[in-house]
This record gives sequence, C-alpha cells and structure tokens, in this order.
Amino acid sequence: MASSVQELNLLRPGHAACAGCGLAIGMKLVLEVMGPRTVAVIVPSCEGAIGGVYPNTSYGVPTFHSAFEIAAPTAAGIANGLKIQGRDDIQVLAFAGDGGTFDIGLQSLSGVAKNNDDILYVCLDNEAYMNTGIQVSSATPSYAWTNTTPEGNPRRKKNIMEIMAAHYNPYSATATIGYPRDLQQKITKAKGIRGTKFIHLLVPCPTGWRTPSDISPELSILAVETNVFPLYEVEEGRKYTINHEPRRLPVQAYLLKQGRFKHLGEEQIRQVQRDVDEEWEKLKHRASLQG
Ligand code: SF4
Repeated sequence: MASSVQELNLLRPGHAACAGCGLAIGMKLVLEVMGPRTVAVIVPSCEGAIGGVYPNTSYGVPTFHSAFEIAAPTAAGIANGLKIQGRDDIQVLAFAGDGGTFDIGLQSLSGVAKNNDDILYVCLDNEAYMNTGIQVSSATPSYAWTNTTPEGNPRRKKNIMEIMAAHYNPYSATATIGYPRDLQQKITKAKGIRGTKFIHLLVPCPTGWRTPSDISPELSILAVETNVFPLYEVEEGRKYTINHEPRRLPVQAYLLKQGRFKHLGEEQIRQVQRDVDEEWEKLKHRASLQG
C-alpha cells in the first residue's frame, strides 16, 4: 500500500511554496485525481518555482516548463503528439496562474479552446502576479492592494468563465481548495470528457493577500459562502449548473480577514456587495435557462 499512497502524492514534501499556500494545496488535490500517468505543463510562476531546482523536483509526474504565454498550446502539442503515437493512456494537464491565463496566455488559450484540443487546463488563480512581487493582474478584485495598485485596484476582476463559455468548449468549472471533494469530482468529470476542459481554481495566497498562513481553506470557503466566488459548471458554453447553494454571508466576512482589503471604506464595501449580488443574479438566470 505504501507505494500506491506514494504514487498519489504527486506534489511531495520539500516543495518550496510559502507556508499555507493555497496553490500548492490545489495542485496536490488536482494531481491526486489525475494520477501518475499525466504530463503537466507548467509556466514561469509560483507553480514553476515551487517544484525545486533541477535535477531535484517535488513533482511526481513529468513536467514541461513552457514559456509564460503558451501553456495551453504546449499542452495541446504534447497531447496531439501522444495521440499520434497511440498513447491514449496518458492525460495532459496545463497549470497556469491568473497572469498566464487572464492576461499573457489568453490568446493562445483561446486558440486551443477554438480547436477543442484534448487537454485539461487548470488556472491557479491567486489574483495577482505573486511570484514576481505582487503586481496587479486582470484577475485582481476591485480595490485590492497590490504593489502596483497601492491605493487599491480601480478595475473589476475579468470574468474568465464567460470568456471560456464563449468558446463553447465542452466543460468549464469553478472550484476552490475549501471544497476539496467538489474540486476532485470536477477533475474526475473533466478526465472523462474529450476536448478542452477548463478549471478556474481559486487559491488563496497568504503572501499576497496579507493573511495568516493557517486560514487559506477558511478563506476559500468564505469566498464561496459570500458569493464572491460561486461554485458552478458550464457545459458546451450554455448549460450552467450551480453546485453549491451559498449562505450569502455579507462580503465583509471575506474581505476584512485580508490585509489587502484593510483600507476599504464603507462605500467601497457596499460597491463590492452590489457587484457580487449582480453577478449572482446573472449566474442564477443562466442556470435557470438550462441550456
Ligand atoms: S507567493 Fe503565494 S501563491 Fe506563490 S508560493 Fe507563496 S503563497 Fe503560494
């Protein structure tokens, strides 16, 4: 049994993530379901750095380190090469952060989704460029402090799920580490679907979010229960399913636990609440149409 447990532990002790890193927890949960017969593409980012320095690695699967902007086509190239060789027992996974997905890799991800290449793409969203020193990305929420938005981000977070849905790809889903069973069920489902699958995985980052290292799972639960980050799936770009009915806690319960939001005034918090409520109504409406 020891070897099978070891096989499932595909992000092993000794990795270099910060204490309490949600990204490391998320990758571990994803790899546990993907299993050892997986090739993972990784971009220059926290996930590229935490594996360790060559020739050592904490990853228990082969990893291909691509350029920042081409995680998706690199994974598609590997997947298509394996297909030509008749190796349909190996799955190809791309891990990229929000910078590599929402910004720098968006064009190449769009091309892969348009072709419906057979890969699983997991966006590890820690809501800023953390690895290079906490710079704002298009995934950074409104008013959040980063080193390039010292007075708070003036723009709303880009809706990457809607961008993916516009490609009519077979499967996209949101997930977060505070709901590990939901996450792993979605990875299992994605493994059984051919084509471009996309998981938007929210991963709290104690370093960039200015939070204690022991509350990352709690924060990701609060993101869901306040509706800041609802859990849902989109199939073929039109069938929306909400996977968890949130408690609809006020957004303060989530925001005020994080140093990056500590400067927010009452009106800014009210605006975040309005934005969250508006997005929730839109999502409920789409889910009610049932594709
Ligand atoms: S900077 Fe954030 S995402 Fe990167 S390793 Fe540290 S805690 Fe994890």
